[in-house]
Amino acid sequence: MKWAILSDVHGNLEALRATIQDLRGQGARQVAFLGDVVGYGANPNECLALLRELTEWVVAGNHDCGAVGLTDIDTFTSAARTAVLWSQQQLSTENIAYLRRLPLWHQKEGITFVHASPNAPAEWNYMITFPEAEEGFHALAGDLAFVGHTHQPLALAKEAKGEVQVINPEEVILKEGIRYIINVGSVGQPRDSNPQAAYGLYDDVAKKYILKRVTYDIQAAQKKIIKAGLPPFLAQRLAKGI
Ligand code: ZN
Repeated sequence: MKWAILSDVHGNLEALRATIQDLRGQGARQVAFLGDVVGYGANPNECLALLRELTEWVVAGNHDCGAVGLTDIDTFTSAARTAVLWSQQQLSTENIAYLRRLPLWHQKEGITFVHASPNAPAEWNYMITFPEAEEGFHALAGDLAFVGHTHQPLALAKEAKGEVQVINPEEVILKEGIRYIINVGSVGQPRDSNPQAAYGLYDDVAKKYILKRVTYDIQAAQKKIIKAGLPPFLAQRLAKGI
C-alpha cells in the first residue's frame, strides 16, 4: 500500500489542495499528517476540514497546540506568535476541540508518525544534530519514523551498532536491519530553498520512499496572507522557500 505523508500545512490551502491532487494521482491509499495544520497561513479552518476528510492519522504540531493553549508560545518567533494568535481567533469551536484531542504520535505496523522527535514529542526539539538523532533512534519502537517540524527534508539511517548516517532524502530504499527517520519537509511553508510543496510517498510493500514536490499557486496564498493582515514576511518567504 502507498502512504502519503504530509506535514506542516500551516493554513496554506493552495499548497494543500495541489498536494492532495498529486497524491491521488500517485495512487496513495492512506494519508498520514504529521502536525501543524495552522499558523502562518490564512486558511486554518479550511485546511483542517480537508485534512479531517482525508485521514484519521493526524498528530499534533507545536503550532496546533499553541493555537489551543496547550503549548507555551513564548519561544515562538514574533511572526509565528502573531500568526498563532490570529489562527486562534479564526478557528471554529469544533476545530479547537478537535485540535485539543490530537495525540502527539501514532504508531502503525512498526511505523511511528510524530511531529518533532520520537524521543520527546512534547518538547518540539529540532532533530538536526547527531546527538539528537541518536536519541531519536534510541526511542524508536519500530524500524521507521516519519517526522516534520523543521520544514526541511532529511533522511537518517542507522544500523544496529553503527552511527547515524545522513542519506539522500529524495529517495530511500529501505533495507532489513537498518532503521530510518525521515523528515518529509513541509507542504505549506518549505524552507529548503525550494518553494514547491513537499510531501513523502512510501510504498510499504516495495519498501521504497520518495520525496515529492508539487507546484501550486503561491501568489494566491501570498495575497490571502497580506489581506488577513498577517506579517508580510510570511507571504514573502513562500516565494523563496525559506
Ligand atoms: Zn511547522
